Amino acid sequence: KIVVVGSINLDFTLQVDKLPKKGETILAKNYKISLGGKGANQAIAAKRLGADVFMIGAVGSDDKGKYALNKLEEEGLNLSGIYQIDDITGNAVITIDNQGFNTIVVYPGANEKLSTQWVEKHSALFKEADFVILQLEIPIETVESAIRLAKENNTKVILNPAPVKDISEEIYKYVDCITPNETELFKMTGTGDIQQGAKKLLEKGVREVVVTLGEKGCYYTNGSEEIIIDSIKVNAIDTTAAGDSFNAALAVALCKFKDIKRALKYANVVGGLTTTKLGAKDALPFKNEVEDYIKN
Ligand code: ADP
Repeated sequence: KIVVVGSINLDFTLQVDKLPKKGETILAKNYKISLGGKGANQAIAAKRLGADVFMIGAVGSDDKGKYALNKLEEEGLNLSGIYQIDDITGNAVITIDNQGFNTIVVYPGANEKLSTQWVEKHSALFKEADFVILQLEIPIETVESAIRLAKENNTKVILNPAPVKDISEEIYKYVDCITPNETELFKMTGTGDIQQGAKKLLEKGVREVVVTLGEKGCYYTNGSEEIIIDSIKVNAIDTTAAGDSFNAALAVALCKFKDIKRALKYANVVGGLTTTKLGAKDALPFKNEVEDYIKN
């Protein structure tokens, strides 16, 4: 079982030829509204890959909140972990250019009100879970209390430090696996050198570091072993949620087989396939699509 504690957003995705410059107005050639937010993306990704998933998150009492709940339910997720708050549901405006590069602006709304108490209300689940996955689009106190709760219950913690926020030094020791992308690693450690950056995170007490490297694949280290996996060759049109599906896939794979190299390869395929479709939720691959890719 996987527990995801994280954000739920509505994504407004605009496809453009070139990203706008400061002060520039441009026309988009495609527009799409879909469910997103790193928490929801990771929960849905894990569910689509066949895992037993419970999501803890928050939406507003507006129409966007209802839309989000419907979409989560359509994916077969249990809604009892979703707090409905008298606020605006989180939303994100995303622009994507022809090469698949994006800019994202997020209004957190209800996500900012996901409280420690709400997480603690579901503490029994932490005992049953194999993994708890977290990102940083919710209050840091809530992230930290969920991580402590996971540790008390011997549940493994995957922390996707996105977007980067300051975390208490003590918390790093409770993190089994931290999964920054290159930008996040740089922000957290001040070095652009992947190995050095990863080493700095290990020194903080994290047991394993996975750096996702976009089209270059991913890098793993636990201090004694290093693994580099090349990305799969795809026609990437939108990298939104690639990191999210990668994280979910890593947890799903590690629940099934403990072999880290095999799990990284699986996550790398899932992340790669996610870049071949537009949007966040809609791009998340299903278990059979991933298996078909691996077979062929
Ligand atoms: P984020 O989406 O968090 O910025 P990355 O861009 O590092 O994270 O992508 C996450 C993972 O998705 C990568 O480690 C890789 O497995 C896969 N991926 C991303 N971009 C590509 C690409 N252009 N081609 C193939 N795989 C990709």
